[in-house]
Amino acid sequence: MEWRFCLTRRKRLDLSSALARGEFVPYFQPLVDLRTGELRGCEVLARWVHPTRGIVLPDDFIPYAEESGIIAALSECVLSKAFEACATLNQTFVLSVNISPIQFRDPILSKRLSELSTRHRFPLDRVKVEITESTLLTNLADAQSISTQLKLLGVKLSLDDFGTGYSSLAHLQALPFDEIKIDRSFVSSMCCRRESMKIVAAVIGLGRSLGLTTVAEGIEESAQADMLRCLGCEVGQGWFYGRPVPIEELQAMLALSRPS
Ligand code: C2E
Ligand code: CA
Ligand code: CA
Ligand code: CA
Repeated sequence: MEWRFCLTRRKRLDLSSALARGEFVPYFQPLVDLRTGELRGCEVLARWVHPTRGIVLPDDFIPYAEESGIIAALSECVLSKAFEACATLNQTFVLSVNISPIQFRDPILSKRLSELSTRHRFPLDRVKVEITESTLLTNLADAQSISTQLKLLGVKLSLDDFGTGYSSLAHLQALPFDEIKIDRSFVSSMCCRRESMKIVAAVIGLGRSLGLTTVAEGIEESAQADMLRCLGCEVGQGWFYGRPVPIEELQAMLALSRPS
């Protein structure tokens, strides 16, 4: 118990000083129109550029940042860099940002996003907030009021990891979502498991009938992209289209794809 406490305290100190040193940065992963191949947006994924450990992935620090209460500050640091960089790109794609359950309970979330938007001149109608269902379990009424505030500012709302949570359908009905993201677990098995394919097809149909954009995540092979396209899925994301990259690489990619 004591050892665990020490470890947690140590982690907390590590995270706080990393935050102070600005070691958290945004990486960007493309979201692509499955029919035309055009860039529709980018998901912002946090990375810790550690002085000795190299690039640390979110699963290794987001849970501790949530636990120790610095998630909002960390997120603000990452989003600030992302907005700043993308405001100058001369592009119109949407930035999808991951918001933790704790942040989605914070009544000033919309104020924080507005401030960042103003500071970096990155319009909020180019921002999409991704939340998972765990966000909605504790207090649906708060989530509804925060969603309404965000929507009034022009922010779009996406239900992430769709199909893995609890009572997904009730949540789709309760909140003003614009998009559902089909979880990677279904996409990765859809070409070899008939059940997965049927579930993906049903989710795409559901999204369509509710007027929502359907996004498939974790596309690693062309066969998956082909099947999703045939099933009517609009947007895709995954290593097949591009891994998460730092801003310099995103800029280089965009420069290459721009017609001369
Ligand atoms: P997520 O939101 O479901 O993000 C998708 C994850 O799948 C990312 O992992 C991404 O790198 C990975 N991925 C994308 N395409 C593929 C693929 O084709 N194959 C495979 N195997 N993986 C793929 P990552 O970057 O490690 O992030 C993990 C999770 O950490 C995210 O899952 C998200 O829940 C959370 N996260 C990341 N950045 C932030 C942040 O700034 N704030 C918060 N609150 N959470 C974040
Ligand atoms: Ca996400
Ligand atoms: Ca996801
Ligand atoms: Ca996930």
